[in-house]
Amino acid sequence: MANKDHTDPARMEKIVSLCKRRGFIFQAGEIYGGLNGVWDYGPLGVELKRNLKDYWWRKTVQERDDVLGMDGSILTMEQVLVSSGHVGGFSDPMVDCKTCKGRFRADNLDGFQCKEKPSVCPGQSPKCDLTEPRQFNLMLQTNFGATGEQIAYLRPETAQSIFCQYKNVLDSNRVKLPFGIAQVGKSFRNEINPRNFTFRSREFEQMEIEYFCHPEDGMRLTDEWLETRLAFYEEIGIPREKLHILDVPDGERAFYSKKTYDIEYEFPFGIQELEGVAYRTDYDIGVHQKGCGKPLEYFDEETKQRFIPHVVEPSAGCDRTVLALICEAFDEETLTDDKGKDDVRTVLRFKPTMAPIKVGIFPLLKKNEEQVRVAREIQKKLQPWMNVFYDDGGAVGRRYRRQDEVGTPYCVTVDFDTLGENGDELKGTVTLRHRDSMEQERISVDALLGWLLERVR
Ligand code: ATP
Repeated sequence: MANKDHTDPARMEKIVSLCKRRGFIFQAGEIYGGLNGVWDYGPLGVELKRNLKDYWWRKTVQERDDVLGMDGSILTMEQVLVSSGHVGGFSDPMVDCKTCKGRFRADNLDGFQCKEKPSVCPGQSPKCDLTEPRQFNLMLQTNFGATGEQIAYLRPETAQSIFCQYKNVLDSNRVKLPFGIAQVGKSFRNEINPRNFTFRSREFEQMEIEYFCHPEDGMRLTDEWLETRLAFYEEIGIPREKLHILDVPDGERAFYSKKTYDIEYEFPFGIQELEGVAYRTDYDIGVHQKGCGKPLEYFDEETKQRFIPHVVEPSAGCDRTVLALICEAFDEETLTDDKGKDDVRTVLRFKPTMAPIKVGIFPLLKKNEEQVRVAREIQKKLQPWMNVFYDDGGAVGRRYRRQDEVGTPYCVTVDFDTLGENGDELKGTVTLRHRDSMEQERISVDALLGWLLERVR
């Protein structure tokens, strides 16, 4: 639920506008009026999102011995989602407002306003005219076959393909409990009220881990995963003090969950969930064993026991984390020039590892052929290792500002000193300019790649 104390609509408006203006995020189908709750990532947005997903994958799968990756299908068999309980119960309570004809989630009315009588609806005034809540299934259904006789669903979470393949992964990889299976991919929910930019979308990406364990380890591992995930957010640039941990109380957790932590972030529209870390007991494998009628138990070689493994699930939203990264990075800094005039510098202070462009490369003068040649050489040298941006348009100060606005941590400028015209001792060096401090130093062209690699990957 949005916490009013932390809201800053003006800041959010600036962020949304920057995202569009600089090519991070656009509304899907915008030229036709837009598809509600569906978003396209532009050239910079896709780089940011890939950096996040790659980093998550590296930390979660590649740098751990106990987690394996998979990439399941989006189209999901009906039986899978019947067993998991989604067909029967994956719904939100919905109410309609008879005044404005708006449709709202009954458990999340806070912050909504009736389009016709803003002060009245929904739900908060005696005059307000809401229907009784009805259950609304959030799954998006599709049909297979020439006559559409077979129902399938666009998956509402990535988790179910992991549960269904857990036995295949186990049998093909000689792993022992505890071990995890991780997946990054699209999920779809027919949300009643998509809102807050990409925060609540109908198509989104999740980064999920299903961590299988012995029953007696479930509670401890849930706490351990919470700490691991909090450390991850810190590493990507979301400070601990902006995160809130909600220990979801009894009665509000899913009925099968013994413990659930929501990791929440202070978005400009309120404190809202980024990730859930849930101890799901043996519910998932249990319902699929029952549903498919085949044994899915784990056999413990040491104790010779056969049992259904328990599951701890850290489930993060990729789009929500991208949005948190942008919100956290967004800064407007007032600079006073020599003449006492104020100027606002817009900066996205991304960590270099997350920044869509790692380094801007400029010749000081577009017309200086030698500078252009060396700048292009530097570009070619860095390109196989990182995303760089070459720019020779306009004054160099303006070019720095354009990179500040999209969060590029470093810029290098090839100038007269690079080519030795102002004294040979500087030959072979470029100006390296830092986004945050705006300080400039000289670095040799030969050292540049190594220097950057230590910081941007
Ligand atoms: P909410 O309460 O916000 O609807 P949820 O508790 O239903 O979320 P989960 O089912 O636990 O969400 O999904 C795990 C994660 O997937 C969430 O923490 C969130 O980051 C992401 N997620 C879920 N629904 C959406 C959505 N509609 N748009 C974007 N991300 C989402």
